[in-house]
Amino acid sequence: MGSNHDKYQKGRAWIELNMDNLTHNVKQLQKLLPKGCALMPAVKANAYGHGAVRIGLKLAEMGIKDYCVASASEAIELRRAGITGQILILGYTSPCQFQDLVNYQLTQTVVDLAYARALNDYGHPLWVHVGIDTGMHRLGERSEDVENICEIWRLEHLKITGVYSHLSASDGNSEAEITFTRKQITEFQEVVKALNQRGIVGFKTHLQGSYGVLNYPELEFDYARVGIALYGTLSMSSDRIKADAELRPVLSLKARITCVKALHENEAAGYGLAFRADREMRIAAASIGYADGIPRELSNKGYALVNGYRAAVVGRVCMDQLLLDVSDVPKVSAGDEAVFIGKSGEQEILACEAAERAGTISNEILSRLGSRVERV
Ligand SMILES: *Cc1c(COP(=O)(O)O)cnc(C)c1O
Repeated sequence: MGSNHDKYQKGRAWIELNMDNLTHNVKQLQKLLPKGCALMPAVKANAYGHGAVRIGLKLAEMGIKDYCVASASEAIELRRAGITGQILILGYTSPCQFQDLVNYQLTQTVVDLAYARALNDYGHPLWVHVGIDTGMHRLGERSEDVENICEIWRLEHLKITGVYSHLSASDGNSEAEITFTRKQITEFQEVVKALNQRGIVGFKTHLQGSYGVLNYPELEFDYARVGIALYGTLSMSSDRIKADAELRPVLSLKARITCVKALHENEAAGYGLAFRADREMRIAAASIGYADGIPRELSNKGYALVNGYRAAVVGRVCMDQLLLDVSDVPKVSAGDEAVFIGKSGEQEILACEAAERAGTISNEILSRLGSRVERV
């Protein structure tokens, strides 16, 4: 097999995972946390686009025992792949899937008292963690409604193994955000204390996501539900974190260059005449588009790395392809790789940089990477 054949081994668009970097990030985060606090990695949304089964199994190999996901079907995928630890569903599960909670021994979030009653009415013992709303006002009974919260413990079929809340501004450094986060922490601690005072004990507690750990590492809870940090990126490159943690990106996103050609001065390229050459150019088609997770917002805005050089996206991102300006890339031919997230030569594009150009955060870019992109 010649090298030309090898070039095509990785298909049209693919994700490469650096599992050494995942191991590194796990260790960095574990080092930040107090001894008694275990990581409960967030592997929802296909492990933020990385591939839930692959990441889940690697984490299990590293001794991780607890996971959190968004839905019952995500939890079932992990169970079927052989994950045996606790899997907490952070979101709503419909009563028509309650039997799955039993069959797959999943742990369900109690999103409020009414939902707790629905779970209890199912009549089977179910593992649950109780969600407490300390200020995000999304899920959970409000922290001041202690009587409602206690009511959940009177439901005979619920086996309550955890109580948790979620921070809504822990990524921020402004005084208002820090004050608000401190208030959320206190409210949560007060709920736990109130439960204990009523003789309700023996449950685990958790509050922090990635930014909760990176900005408030001193907190002492039983678990930390880390997502984005585990994958080695911040949400935005402008985020400033308090903890001394060095995170390394796990994912690279690459696509094949399929066609290189001249674009003459004054000619348009791509849909809608959205790009016009103001000089003689060379452009390259890359086999990745918005159906693969490259936001259409990156039309005439994004970048890829080709043979160690930066190449701008020209024209509109198509569903399956896009065009790059490779005029300044010395040698480029069909079969070369275009790197949309990751390193090429001395250059690197971080997920959060690509995200910012698209007006979003790395979490969204990663979690929307399409199922059509191969994971190698
Ligand atoms: C997604 C999610 C997390 C993980 O968030 P990161 O910021 O990615 O660490 C933690 N807790 C809850 C409730 C979530 O929905």
